[in-house]
Amino acid sequence: MTKKIQKFLAEQQPATPCLVMDLDLVADNFKKLRNAVPQAGIYYAVKANPAPEILKLLAGMGSCFDVASVNEVEMALSTGVAADRISFGNTIKKKSDIAAAYARGVRLYAFDSAAELEKIADAAPGSRVFCRILTSGANAEWPLSRKFGCDVKMAKELLLEASRRNVVPYGVSFHVGSQQRDPAQWDTAVAEAAWLFRELEQQNVQLTMLNIGGGFPTRYRKSIPTMGAYGAAIDESLRRHFGNRIPDIIVEPGRQMVGNAGIIQTEVVLISKKSEADRKSWVYLDIGKFGGLAETMDEAIQYPIVSERKGAPMPVILAGPTCDSADILYEKADYRLPSDLQIGDKVEIRAAGAYTTTYASVAFNGFEPLKTHCI
Ligand SMILES: *Cc1c(COP(=O)(O)O)cnc(C)c1O
Repeated sequence: MTKKIQKFLAEQQPATPCLVMDLDLVADNFKKLRNAVPQAGIYYAVKANPAPEILKLLAGMGSCFDVASVNEVEMALSTGVAADRISFGNTIKKKSDIAAAYARGVRLYAFDSAAELEKIADAAPGSRVFCRILTSGANAEWPLSRKFGCDVKMAKELLLEASRRNVVPYGVSFHVGSQQRDPAQWDTAVAEAAWLFRELEQQNVQLTMLNIGGGFPTRYRKSIPTMGAYGAAIDESLRRHFGNRIPDIIVEPGRQMVGNAGIIQTEVVLISKKSEADRKSWVYLDIGKFGGLAETMDEAIQYPIVSERKGAPMPVILAGPTCDSADILYEKADYRLPSDLQIGDKVEIRAAGAYTTTYASVAFNGFEPLKTHCI
């Protein structure tokens, strides 16, 4: 928690739950990433946190944008950046949405199937296209495997097909899984991409871009490697597999850029037990899975949760306020809060700047979507 956020909460006493983003930390995160992968074009994944103030800040620092829908194209454009700084990275797009993005000037599109390539060739003629390959998602706390990407042999055929269509076969992309705590995980995918570059070159198709995705972590309860460690591992891998012909590199950070820059201020609604014998107390907060904490699914992402009280640690089950029994945040993970915690207390959910406001439901049980204050 930064001094700036602390001051804001003390002076403004905003209604809870709310997310407070410290823009200075977002700027720091951008610089850290740029230093770690200086050769890469940075395409911020808008879905992580699309607050206009954040997009504007990043645009001003030279960021480009990875988008997944026409609305996200509009959000990126509203920062004033030109359409050539936008990549439509979703491999699952309606043809009408491709046409709408094309009309707004977007000329860079992802695909991982023959049918999607055909849609792009029809609706966005002349555009650059890149093929996403499968990764295992191993070691990621929020894997993005299975649903996205195709195997490398299929990618080869698809990129060859692209070269016969009215589009430019531009490169290869992958994502090693979100909250990836192992810098070595980029290596397998980089090796496969290098194989694709060579195979296609033999068929006289010259690829120029490698998109190494996002996956860079933010610190939750467990420690994470430094951005420098990621940069070094990736650089070493690129040199080993591409030699002195390293392609243009793109990164698509989401979580790393905004995760640690925000805290969610919440209020304790109820503290109770279900029986006298219960070892753990139930603590119900005014935010839950449907209010923005969807990544607590299977207790995958474990936010640090902090109270100002000083009592001895009391084991708790944390849950949200809605009338859905799936709205439990942490039951198995070992969470403790001070034993003198009271109903009405404020509790902070730290490192909550990524994938929270975008996951908040519109009005489940009439609860309002999570508000953001950018400071
Ligand atoms: C979500 C997403 C990202 C961002 O992933 P992080 O793990 O948050 O860095 C990058 N690229 C694509 C295509 C995505 O869908």
